Amino acid sequence: MNIPSVRLDLLYKAHSDAYETKALEILRSGAYILSEEVAAFENEFALFHGAKHCVGVACGLDALWIALQAMDIGPGDEVIVQGNTFIATFIAVSKVGALPVAADVKDDFRIDVEDVRRKITGRTKAVIVTQLYGDIADMDEVLSLCKEYDLRLMEDAAQAHGATRFGKKAGTFGDAGCFSFYPTKNLGGFGDGGAIITDDKHLEEKMRIIRNYGNIRRNEAILIGKNSRLDALQAGLLRVRLKYLDEINADKRRIAAFYSDHIKNALVKTPAIPEGNVPVWHQYVIQCKERDALKNFLFEKGIGTDIHYPIPPHLTKAYEHLGLKPGDLPVTERLAKEILSLPVWFGISEEELKYITDAINDFHG
Ligand SMILES: *Cc1c(COP(=O)(O)O)cnc(C)c1O
Repeated sequence: MNIPSVRLDLLYKAHSDAYETKALEILRSGAYILSEEVAAFENEFALFHGAKHCVGVACGLDALWIALQAMDIGPGDEVIVQGNTFIATFIAVSKVGALPVAADVKDDFRIDVEDVRRKITGRTKAVIVTQLYGDIADMDEVLSLCKEYDLRLMEDAAQAHGATRFGKKAGTFGDAGCFSFYPTKNLGGFGDGGAIITDDKHLEEKMRIIRNYGNIRRNEAILIGKNSRLDALQAGLLRVRLKYLDEINADKRRIAAFYSDHIKNALVKTPAIPEGNVPVWHQYVIQCKERDALKNFLFEKGIGTDIHYPIPPHLTKAYEHLGLKPGDLPVTERLAKEILSLPVWFGISEEELKYITDAINDFHG
């Protein structure tokens, strides 16, 4: 059997008529950038979260970057980010001129709030929590720490569309929730896209200005902005997909439940979910001390897997200037060597899942 790590065509085929009808409607409309379609998507995405405002942007990196700029975070400021995130979280901080300060995580992949506390200095302005793999961190602890030190709280929710903790959705815990609609995300578009949700009217207005060259009105720039607009085609197709997001997330839960029920191998640890959390399984990540051997073993059997992420951002060449060395974030670094993401794509069959779990259970190191 041949099972790729990612497959997107089944997701499209499940509702292809709806996407094609919408695409044609937009092509024929003559309105392609920041149109009514974008405004409608922003309303629907805000409503889905119970948030007051949503600003559509060009991608997830821009969502983070624009939110930071709107909070006036810049040179001389520090922003605490978690060590085991996608590098975009670090880049957004760097791009506004601030310093990303990496905090370690716990064995369950969630940000270590005690390490965040240790890393707060007089220059710290904000904390960005990544809701990694589609699950939610201990937000109550993070929130009270941010309140104690008067810090802004942002969520990188690019992997967590629809995830909840005690019924509250990812992206709604702090000042701003940032999303990506990269095609592989739970709410994926047909190209790049992103959005920020917030309840703060002032932030919302400023983010709208930043995404459109800093213009408050046409040809009237009040700050140095960007060109980071969601286009009508993505917005329209995302509106269609948003209707199916619960269905998509339910399918991910079916897959995760199958893995959790069927993986029985003392060398492999399956993810633990804290009480109150309902993850959306952007990734299903197992831990194994002999990860590389397991990855090869599965590859030999035709099973594709992935690693999110093999090199923590603080140890990349791009972030050499932070002066961090191996051992500085011990848990993050150990996890990077032990984690393996299994296929979780929409529509994967029971037969394929059984093939994967049988193979994992046959692995003896
Ligand atoms: C995908 C992702 C991003 C970046 O999103 P893009 O749309 O690719 O720019 C940022 N953070 C996390 C955690 C992501 O998974």
